[in-house]
Amino acid sequence: MRLVNFKGVSFLHNKKTVGIDVTPLRPMDFYNVPMKVKNISESEPVVNIGDEVKEGTLIGKPSGNFGLNIYSPVSGRVLNIFDKITSDGGYCKHILIMNDGKNEIQDLPDIGSVSDVTLIQRLKQAGIIDGLSNLPSYLKYSYTGSRSYKTLFILMDSTDPINSVNETLAEFKMEEVVNGAKYFMNITNAPYVTFVFTEENADLAKKLKKHISETKKNYDFKIKFIPFKYPFDNQYILTKLLTGKSVSKKTSFLELGITIETAESCYNFCRAVEFNKPVTRKIVTIDGDNVIRKGNYSIQNGVSFENLIDFVGIPNKEAQMKIIDGSLLKGKAEYNMDISISLTTNTILFLEFNEYAETGEFNCISCGKCSDVCPMFLDPKRIEGAFLDGDTNELEHLKINSCIECGCCSYVCPSKRFLTQRIIDAKYYGRIKNGGK
Ligand code: SF4
Ligand code: SF4
Repeated sequence: MRLVNFKGVSFLHNKKTVGIDVTPLRPMDFYNVPMKVKNISESEPVVNIGDEVKEGTLIGKPSGNFGLNIYSPVSGRVLNIFDKITSDGGYCKHILIMNDGKNEIQDLPDIGSVSDVTLIQRLKQAGIIDGLSNLPSYLKYSYTGSRSYKTLFILMDSTDPINSVNETLAEFKMEEVVNGAKYFMNITNAPYVTFVFTEENADLAKKLKKHISETKKNYDFKIKFIPFKYPFDNQYILTKLLTGKSVSKKTSFLELGITIETAESCYNFCRAVEFNKPVTRKIVTIDGDNVIRKGNYSIQNGVSFENLIDFVGIPNKEAQMKIIDGSLLKGKAEYNMDISISLTTNTILFLEFNEYAETGEFNCISCGKCSDVCPMFLDPKRIEGAFLDGDTNELEHLKINSCIECGCCSYVCPSKRFLTQRIIDAKYYGRIKNGGK
């Protein structure tokens, strides 16, 4: 993996959802909880149709090596278990739960003594998801060798132009974030925590310093800043930027002794350890000119887009609009309002008709902008060509697996080529034979 200098896309820092605390979504009548968080992370139902559950009842457990514990987001009755489409276009089992209005809650058992072993168990038990890879967090720490990290970074905000989940939690749930960081320090045996902020958030960093000093936290920490340039908060780029080291097929994060967590993972970890709360909700940034109440929402796992629209308010549901699942650079249009919001949803944009172009693609004009901007020094135009030709050898030769799916190439392409989407399709779904033709 080659990172000689740092490419990417610059934006003005103009996030519209910062400075407002997280709003919990109101209870819904029905939840359709997906049993998958990422393509390789599937879980299997452990409840049956007709079962009564509480908010926090375990309803799914890992199937295979990468699965996640999944908990009911509501107290109610299991109405159905069936295959259904997910936001990434695949299918997985969903558990349909009807809210019974009783608001019964089932917490995790008390953790007992806090040690690196019990903390890793709690990470797994609570169903915490890594904020960067979107895989279950415990996977990073479940190897049996010595866990002795030299460097633990906690990402406190995002260089994404829209998403503000981490900075919102860092500001309004600072105590939980700081305590969660301490638990990650226990797991990793890192000598200190490095909190990473973008330069735009220097004031928040000052607040953090003050908070740690006033609450007399008993641990060493440092603060580092990165430029507000997308996608500098990607784990590979951040590592190179802050340590000068590259992660590659030969040298993993583990071998480099570096691990990166986010404010949201720390928040969830603290709640799991101190309040015995499993993860049943996801904090999601809602933005766009076609939504009335922009902000960060705590959304229960399995809420449909349709229900979300009713809550956040769309001025005119009949008007032409586009809903983007994901942020400006790597989101994808969502057309099925019955799809569930899951524990890996980060940003949802409601765009007005004039905020997006419905022009489709034009022919590549070989301008080279896509490769100029690619932070991984790939050639997206040639990768797309190999995808369309179904040429797997060429895809490998062009190092398709080094793509970090940042979306920069599609964003700058004047011909509006679907570069990132095709690369993702080729990487994960093997949709390369005559793909897109
Ligand atoms: S090829 Fe991948 S890493 Fe490069 S700009 Fe496109 S999405 Fe980002
Ligand atoms: S940016 Fe678009 S038009 Fe330019 S070379 Fe890349 S794919 Fe072709």
